Amino acid sequence: MTPETILKEKFGYDTFRDGQKKVIDQILHHQNVLAIMPTGGGKSLCYQIPAMLFPGLTLVISPLIALMKDQVDALNENGIPATFINSSLTTTEMNQRFQLAKNHQIKLLYIAPERLDSSYFFEQLASLDIALVAVDEAHCISQWGHDFRPSYLRLTDTLEQLPSQPVTVALTATATPKVAADIQKRLHIEHEVKTDFSRANLSFQVVKDQSSDQFLLDYLHANSTEAGIIYASTRKEVERLCKLLAKHKESVTMYHGGMAEEARRQNQEDFLYDRKRIMVATNAFGMGIDKSNVRFVIHAQVPGSLEAYYQEAGRAGRDGLPSDAILIFKLHDVQIQHFFIDQSEMADADKRREYEKLQEMTQYANTQQCLQQYILNYFGEDGPSCGRCSNCLDERDSQDITVEAQKVLSCVKRMHENFGKVLIAQVLAGSRNQRIKQFHFEELSTYGLLREKSQKQLTELIDFLTASAYLQASNGQYPVLSLTSRGIRVLQGQEQVFRKMATPVKTNILEDSA
Ligand code: ADP
Repeated sequence: MTPETILKEKFGYDTFRDGQKKVIDQILHHQNVLAIMPTGGGKSLCYQIPAMLFPGLTLVISPLIALMKDQVDALNENGIPATFINSSLTTTEMNQRFQLAKNHQIKLLYIAPERLDSSYFFEQLASLDIALVAVDEAHCISQWGHDFRPSYLRLTDTLEQLPSQPVTVALTATATPKVAADIQKRLHIEHEVKTDFSRANLSFQVVKDQSSDQFLLDYLHANSTEAGIIYASTRKEVERLCKLLAKHKESVTMYHGGMAEEARRQNQEDFLYDRKRIMVATNAFGMGIDKSNVRFVIHAQVPGSLEAYYQEAGRAGRDGLPSDAILIFKLHDVQIQHFFIDQSEMADADKRREYEKLQEMTQYANTQQCLQQYILNYFGEDGPSCGRCSNCLDERDSQDITVEAQKVLSCVKRMHENFGKVLIAQVLAGSRNQRIKQFHFEELSTYGLLREKSQKQLTELIDFLTASAYLQASNGQYPVLSLTSRGIRVLQGQEQVFRKMATPVKTNILEDSA
């Protein structure tokens, strides 16, 4: 049997998708490999086919307990003997399944990583002839990932101690270069197969400076036959939005972790089987959901990281048809996320990481670069501008604001990179408040340098320079601004700064003609 014949005979497909064959070949050559492919890219086949070709057992580690049964059922339907062991089973059932594995009656065994915490469980595994270990959702092993799970950390030790010395394949849909390096180090993987992450059918949009409720209602009205998901950060907001949309006669349901299991299942099915067209949910909804005709994913609140965002947004348009991925951005939501991190019990180093991820997310919302390209760059890939996103379609003229930017950057420098944007804006505006006197900022050469601008215009300008990575904000409750290397280049006259600005509103035409 070859991989191709199994692909055809067991799965009914004629050709491999991008990257699949390469991953399979490396596994068959007993090389550990990390497969980074977008959601829907076909990661499962990358270990299911080798599982059929190896004489031993394939152990699949997956955090998605709810999906294990579906995956195993699908394999069994294709005539592939597989089973799972998770907390839903009794001890007797577990032992029966271990026995099947020992007797070589199954080819794939799915388990949740938490199982590995039990020494009894490990002893059972150690007695099996495991040829391949597939670590699904492998980004969960990295604290730099967006969904870190402590139980994944113990995987490394467990895999090392397995007497059969299996090959390891790690799979994920979201890995920045930093996360990928982390996965490779922890799982002793030297090879990586990464496929194209761009989603040619998705149009990314960032919506700012308007009422998000009104935007949602208008959008849903204009796209009244399409199915889509609306994500919010809190259960309370999910419930509020669901009520609001129902009041406006939308066909809507909801999903969050605080609901009873039965209600969640029911609502999920209503959405999957097109009985309800809109799903309002927290990020608890969607992992592994395979609904192909999702035409839009709208984030009504900003998520905690760009990785999480791209994964959730990527649930739109899995059938390849044009679809929207929209982020509604409000600074207030970022502050809420900040507050969550602040109040959490995390260690300081973890908090810093979370702040950093949030800042990257904020930069995405404020960049004027092509949004698809921005995301690809973030994942360590290059690509041309997409021509479809809200930035590519932004027809406002770019203005050269180099001189203005130099004034701001120079002011930040003269304030010894030790203050936040509000005070910097006040110094540039030449205001006379107590703090300015206290620090003698009125004596700075940059004091009042941009006094023709309003305080609001100045903070917006500083936000723009931060979002465009000329300035960087320290983490914490009162972020302090400092220059980046890019900012220094601007100050030295080596780089120009361009900004798209709203065309100034003309004076009231009616009045003029009166
Ligand atoms: P992922 O885990 O990467 O999100 P899956 O493994 O669930 O993706 O695969 C997504 C869908 O693509 C599944 O319905 C799967 O059967 C299908 N698929 C996978 N490989 C191929 C292929 N070579 N040809 C056609 N369809 C495929």
